[in-house]
Amino acid sequence: MADIRVLPKQLAELIAAGEVVERPASVIKELVENSIDAGANKITVEIQHGGITYMRVTDNGCGIKPEQVSTAFMRHATSKIASESDLFKIGTLGFRGEALASIGAVSKVEVLTKTRENENGICYSIEGGSETKCEEIGCPDGTTIVIRDLFYNTPARMKFLKKDSSEGTAVAAVIDAIALSHPEISVKFIRDSKLVVATSGDSKLASAVYSVLGREFASGLIPVDTTTEGIRVSGLICKPVHCYPTRTKQYFFLNKRFVRSGVIAKALDQAYKNSIMVGKFPAGVLNIELDADRVDVNVHPAKTEVRFSDERAVFEAVYYAVKNALSIGDTRPQLELKPKKPVENTGFSRMTAEEYRALAKKEEPKGETIAEKLYKNVSETKPYSVMKDFQKSLVSNRTVNITFPKAEEEKKPDISEAEPQRSLEFAFEKKTEALETDETRFENISFIPDTEIEFKYIGEVFRTYIIVQYKGSVYFIDKHAAHERMLYEELKKDGVKEVQSLLSPVSVALSREEYRAVLENKELLNGAGFEIEEFGTVSVLVRAVPAALEKTDIMYLISDIAANLVKFQKAESDIIDDLYHNIACRSAIKGGNEQSAAELEEFARRVLSNNDIMYCPHGRPVAFELKKSELEKQFGRTK
Ligand code: ADP
Ligand code: MG
Repeated sequence: MADIRVLPKQLAELIAAGEVVERPASVIKELVENSIDAGANKITVEIQHGGITYMRVTDNGCGIKPEQVSTAFMRHATSKIASESDLFKIGTLGFRGEALASIGAVSKVEVLTKTRENENGICYSIEGGSETKCEEIGCPDGTTIVIRDLFYNTPARMKFLKKDSSEGTAVAAVIDAIALSHPEISVKFIRDSKLVVATSGDSKLASAVYSVLGREFASGLIPVDTTTEGIRVSGLICKPVHCYPTRTKQYFFLNKRFVRSGVIAKALDQAYKNSIMVGKFPAGVLNIELDADRVDVNVHPAKTEVRFSDERAVFEAVYYAVKNALSIGDTRPQLELKPKKPVENTGFSRMTAEEYRALAKKEEPKGETIAEKLYKNVSETKPYSVMKDFQKSLVSNRTVNITFPKAEEEKKPDISEAEPQRSLEFAFEKKTEALETDETRFENISFIPDTEIEFKYIGEVFRTYIIVQYKGSVYFIDKHAAHERMLYEELKKDGVKEVQSLLSPVSVALSREEYRAVLENKELLNGAGFEIEEFGTVSVLVRAVPAALEKTDIMYLISDIAANLVKFQKAESDIIDDLYHNIACRSAIKGGNEQSAAELEEFARRVLSNNDIMYCPHGRPVAFELKKSELEKQFGRTK
């Protein structure tokens, strides 16, 4: 090996710079954080070519004293901490005194800065770590830093940069986070000469969210604000039906610092659990405030990772705050109807309710439904699936746009799992009389409604959706989802009450891993009503199952449970939860099953009287609400 030697200053600088300055986005983050620490309430960021050729940050903060500008570019030079004890109560975003030195080492920097106390400012330049200019100049209070040609002297680093657009997008993400965490600062972002973000700086989080994430995202958010054991969690979160397919719209700020935190993300997930669809993630902005000495921000050079002295407390504070907000702020998803053409043209809009009824009576025997009559002229749109739009609305979180096609000839309702081919139709199926109803299964539901509520049962469509009128709205209830949720809530409350021994035990062949996982969790499974024992080297024998599951395919169920045990390696409580999901899903009535009108009515009562039954355990909504006012709008009675 070669001799050991101390690296020349220039080389050491370049290595150190690599830790802080990875790409234009990291430069912008450091510079904007400096502006915030300088007390600015107006910050403008401009970049060209993703920031690679040009970046400018202008602020109206305190400025740097003339004699200290060159010091600011020295490594470990900072005005933010002075002693070791300060390190444990950091109240500024910066404190390591490394950013300017690092940036100055790998680019061409020009600074214009002036404090309020000084009449003139300073124009200072540094290129590749060497000062090239330092002179007095007249300029406004505050600081402007221009960075040109990032990594011009480190081609190896340059190679790692992505294309301009990707780097620009990374800068935009930094700006978003800064603007969201500081609604009191007016943040402007100009990208390739285009203004792309401008926040008002009115101190309201909702305004910042609106400016940064857009109107669609900002509508219908739920406010959060709860303090638990000195940890305040506040912000805005999306409704469970409006969740996103990725985590990109989760913003966590710890004492106003953007952080990535597994603990916070997990707490958020837990709070949304059972309300959110599989594969979807909550979105929102959460500010967590706690004493600076309860968190260590000095874990990573970019300071995006943090360590809490008490993770559990942070987890609980976030979990309860979000849970609390959801319990107050979440309402059933609403349907909004948007007519394609002005309804007035139909000539039906000015009819009274009596007239409608008379018309319906007169016309129905001829085989035409009232829906057909009313919408004959409204829309020539091809029928399409309402469900499809429901699904879309869940993804996009926006309103459901239903058009009313011409009604087709009356058909038997399609009871298969396939999407119903017809649009929302107001000729309801007659109440189905009890055919082959599984009474016992229904009795199993011991849920007692909180209050006696008054509603009108209208009927069932597609043997899947219950329709009722309640408090000025029509509700469409998915009977399977509703029943599944009720069973699940009961299991959580009382556990499995009844176990059924199988007449002939069922043997289930598993993979080696699954086999091991099942046996390891034998006690747990037993507690949930499954009596399972080893049977050969990779098979298990199932002797008993929860009574509600008697008729299900045991082999399939156990394989499913075993596969989940291997795949998710969860905590005990999650395993039980999974089992309850499985039991509830398999023992709930299915779409297409026959129930009597009385049963369905009872179902609706349970759903409407309990706001906990809002989503099935997989997060699909149990019911949609269609307000009378929406219908009236559709018929042109109101605007
Ligand atoms: P740190 O932020 O960790 O202190 P930096 O290298 O980012 O280290 O900055 C060094 C010092 O320069 C800061 O401590 C601060 O005093 C000063 N400074 C940097 N940017 C600004 C600014 N925009 N306005 C006023 N002072 C600044
Ligand atoms: Mg700094």
